[in-house]
Amino acid sequence: MFNLILFGPPGSGKGTQSERLISKYGLKHLSTGDLLRSEIARETPLGLAVKNLMAKGELVPDEIVIEMINSAIDNNPAANGFLFDGFPRTNAQAEALDKLLSQKNTEISIVLALQVSDKELVSRLVKRGQTSERIDDRNEDIILARLAEYNKKTAAVADHYKKYDKVKYIKGEGNIDDIFERLSDEIDKKKEPRFT
Ligand code: ADP
Repeated sequence: MFNLILFGPPGSGKGTQSERLISKYGLKHLSTGDLLRSEIARETPLGLAVKNLMAKGELVPDEIVIEMINSAIDNNPAANGFLFDGFPRTNAQAEALDKLLSQKNTEISIVLALQVSDKELVSRLVKRGQTSERIDDRNEDIILARLAEYNKKTAAVADHYKKYDKVKYIKGEGNIDDIFERLSDEIDKKKEPRFT
């Protein structure tokens, strides 16, 4: 299996690049943001429980997202590999994920970390807020709260995977096709180490 984490702050382009990567590499896309938004749209008990936290730009509790990912992995026994998008977002989630994967005799192959300046992130998210229905893109205060959550809790997840030498940094600004190429190059190098 080839399991990849697409890592980076809100607005760094994880959703856009995920779509392309899953189709090129035949991976199953697991986005905790999408899974949570679907729970909210269906008004499930879980959705109702997380709606206010998400609307404020705060993270939802670790137990909830870990359980969601656990079921998603179990529900896709035939997957060639997973692309994790928006997960793990805390060290506790990273440790839980490593454990879940090791129980399936697999592991994270690579962490691709998109780097985008704060100024560019805020401008992308404000722009998305003008057209999207996402309540957490609605105003700049919520966007700044999400970036603060990222810096406080999520940035450390890269350090966790650095210990295992799994992190590759990718410039996430500029042309979308060029960014995709940079991501693909790192994956190809990892998959065919003989040719590097
Ligand atoms: P973005 O990366 O653009 O902020 P996401 O769709 O990944 O958007 O996440 C939206 C919101 O969903 C987050 O602000 C948070 O409230 C919640 N969320 C998503 N994934 C997680 C996670 N792994 N742990 C905790 N909360 C999460």
